[in-house]
Amino acid sequence: MSGLLAALREIVGADGLLARPEDLLVYEADGLTMHGALPSAVVLPRDKMEVARAVRACRAHGVPFVPRGAGTGLSGGAIALDSGVVIECSRMNRILRIDPENRVAVVEPGVVNAELSKAVARHGLFYAPDPSSQMACTLGGNVAENSGGPHTLKYGTTTQHVLALELVLPDGELVRVGAASGFPAGYDLVGAVVGGEGTLGIVTEITLRLSAMPERAETLLGIFPDVVSACRAVGAIIQSGLVPAALEIVDQRTIAAVEASVYAAGLPTDAGAVLLVELDGPAVALGRQVERVRTLALEAGAREVAVARDAAERARFWRARKGAFGAMGRLAPDLYVHDAVVPRNKLPEILERVCEIGDRHRLRLSNVFHAGDGNLHPNISFDRRDADELRRVIEAGEEILRVCVEAGGVISGEHGIGTEKRAYLPLVFSDADLGAMCRLRAAFDPDGVCNPGKIFPTTRFCMEANPKARGYGRVEFT
Ligand SMILES: Cc1cc2nc3c(=O)[nH]c(=O)nc-3n(C[C@H](O)[C@H](O)[C@H](O)COP(=O)(O)OP(=O)(O)OC[C@H]3O[C@@H](n4cnc5c(N)ncnc54)[C@H](O)[C@@H]3O)c2cc1C
Repeated sequence: MSGLLAALREIVGADGLLARPEDLLVYEADGLTMHGALPSAVVLPRDKMEVARAVRACRAHGVPFVPRGAGTGLSGGAIALDSGVVIECSRMNRILRIDPENRVAVVEPGVVNAELSKAVARHGLFYAPDPSSQMACTLGGNVAENSGGPHTLKYGTTTQHVLALELVLPDGELVRVGAASGFPAGYDLVGAVVGGEGTLGIVTEITLRLSAMPERAETLLGIFPDVVSACRAVGAIIQSGLVPAALEIVDQRTIAAVEASVYAAGLPTDAGAVLLVELDGPAVALGRQVERVRTLALEAGAREVAVARDAAERARFWRARKGAFGAMGRLAPDLYVHDAVVPRNKLPEILERVCEIGDRHRLRLSNVFHAGDGNLHPNISFDRRDADELRRVIEAGEEILRVCVEAGGVISGEHGIGTEKRAYLPLVFSDADLGAMCRLRAAFDPDGVCNPGKIFPTTRFCMEANPKARGYGRVEFT
């Protein structure tokens, strides 16, 4: 290892290499605190050539490596199993080009999501995918996780906004995939890398599609007696043909946590749920849409529907949604943000079952979720030092996934598989499916050295797809 550390220091300089135990501790986990693994070192490259050289150095010393952005991921994707080296891209944070005419931006992977929208606002443009972590998470992490956010309903997830990528392949070669025009020839390799969870290479440059800022946005807040009636309103709004930019539900337990925190937004704590609806588009069309949503929400059982009067009130409505995770940080040392998707019409029934599972396992479970997409986020506040509680959290998490899959859903909407859900992939894929995915992975990473131990349930699939791989076999699967 000392030879590798010397080689990495040579590439990124002394201030670009972390190897003291107290520095490495920070990288032990990402946002999923119940899975941890210490890296043997962390490198902080400043450009793509340093990334490529760091990859080659790791390979020369037979050590696996893991790309990392801000570490806000919620599925254990950015932790280094098997004492690998973390290659963190946060110093590669330059916006390289803004092309308003073609509505395109070219960025390095360490650019923080919210910074891009700020930078292009003067051109009347914005970058649509907006994870609730957008003040911290990086665009490289967003690409790897195919991140969504509250506005996914209308604007789509990250994959709809990535035109081209440059990446360092796991053998150290620098390649480009996709086309800035949006019309690439041949296989859709951008589609493979987006959502690849950092297993196919390290993204060093991203060409992104920008969107025109809507002329106007209206934000409504519906107060409901319970989550079921709020879900009914969501179904009615979608069925009416409207396509809101966002349809988000915050349940009673989350409202209580938010109102007791610095994110307090003045929500009634006796409400069973609130529904946040955002409509955007040409000003002339919005008045009628607002009235339509108000009527549908009242018919579904809302006791009150407020429309934000100005930007300050709109921000206040959103504070309850975007501050929810932070507010829950006060409740317990750990927060497990679960993620699954069900068909929208199954939301009321599934939410009842999710709450029943939480209660049965004696857990503090609350819900704040992208209702328009059917994308649930049951949040469990817990203390991982309590072994019995941790066991109950894991059991409840698995039960929730099974219920969602039985309802025709999938096991992740936006947080990825990582280490968190690799054991559950067979709930939605056959052995043959998994083998095919491993062969795709092996085409990029034949030796299994780039973020090994992620996504796939056991090494078997990867080893069978590519028996010569050196890396996969070393990673322990639990
Ligand atoms: C409070 C909170 C709210 C959140 N809300 C949302 C939400 O609304 N929607 C949503 O989708 N997610 C959400 N997330 C999850 C998380 O923020 C996203 O997954 C985000 O995209 C991770 O970005 P990151 O920079 O932190 O990546 P990291 O956590 O550092 O890494 C995530 C994955 O990306 C890979 N990776 C990172 N950089 C690169 C690169 N340059 N090349 C290749 N692979 C790379 C890593 O190996 C890892 O597998 C939330 C998280 C938190 C903590």
